[in-house]
Amino acid sequence: MWSCDLCLFVLGSSLVEISGHEEGPTHKKYNPDLIDKDDLDWLDKYRALGWNTEEHKTFVSGPGVYGAPGIMHVPVRGADEPSFNVPYYVLYNNHEDRWWSYAFHDACYDVLLRSVGKLGANPDPMQFDTYVMYHLMHSIETEGEPELEKEEKLESLKNEPWSCVLVLGEEYVTWNPSEKASNLDNLKTVFQSPKFTCTPESRPLTTTTKVSHDPFTALHYDILHLITQQLSTPDIFSLIHASPYIYRMTDNPTFWKHMMGRDIFPWFWEAMKLINGCELPEHFDYKGAYLWMDKVVRPKFGMTGPWMGVANRRRIWKLCVQLADSYHKERDAWARLVYEYGSGSRS
Ligand SMILES: [Zn+2]
Repeated sequence: MWSCDLCLFVLGSSLVEISGHEEGPTHKKYNPDLIDKDDLDWLDKYRALGWNTEEHKTFVSGPGVYGAPGIMHVPVRGADEPSFNVPYYVLYNNHEDRWWSYAFHDACYDVLLRSVGKLGANPDPMQFDTYVMYHLMHSIETEGEPELEKEEKLESLKNEPWSCVLVLGEEYVTWNPSEKASNLDNLKTVFQSPKFTCTPESRPLTTTTKVSHDPFTALHYDILHLITQQLSTPDIFSLIHASPYIYRMTDNPTFWKHMMGRDIFPWFWEAMKLINGCELPEHFDYKGAYLWMDKVVRPKFGMTGPWMGVANRRRIWKLCVQLADSYHKERDAWARLVYEYGSGSRS
């Protein structure tokens, strides 16, 4: 088995072991009722980010085919692929080939490009710098992995090159993270529910009489907006719970659309289309929708239901964002170097 360097899951749908009802022990096989078996082929579409040792530049390979363990064959070369290279790539440090390659599913590469701002609502006009990304991945592998949060530390995603550990309860990682029209349709249906309708009468604030002094009342809304931009999401909720004034000032569609743009839309592309497209019921409860999306589409052990693909995308997004932050720092540092010295060798 080998895995994608972005989502850390297997390259190839044939490696997803699904248990049959008639079989015995199933601790290493997924529950068939929780797998979208018609949409597993995203695991078969992958390629590599490699290093052209002759010309000292990076390239993205053509579509890969899994070969021997740790080897990816490329029957059809990519446009940037060096023609003199052998038609396969080593995907691990074998201590002979210093410049090994990094494999990724096409669907995960799409998430990566969005996380660095290359794709999405306001795409970065600069070309995606594969040189910076390649060397960043190389330094992470040789100098230490980034810290992963709880939902990213999955048993089935322990990146052990020679074994495949599948754990019941983590089936959502097999779900295609790509954007889907069915997700948009499901979301439209959910948001038509009366529970996403809100008026001042339906959500009155009852704590005001218990508060004798609220120091935050001195803050103008514009200042409050600037402050919340600098706070983490848990801190914003602490502030809302601490002050009736801030509760009231933030209880409006503009504030919660801003929160969605910051915390939800980067990975929930269908929600961004629906909410920015204004196809919503009258008196739509933006705050309720934010809380619902944050909770229901959260990757977690044992999750079921229609949002497993988007939850997997959210998990991959969180992994890619860590790369994206470093990518921007490295790219900016390189741009400064070129600006100061005119040019520079990338070898
Ligand atoms: Zn992947």
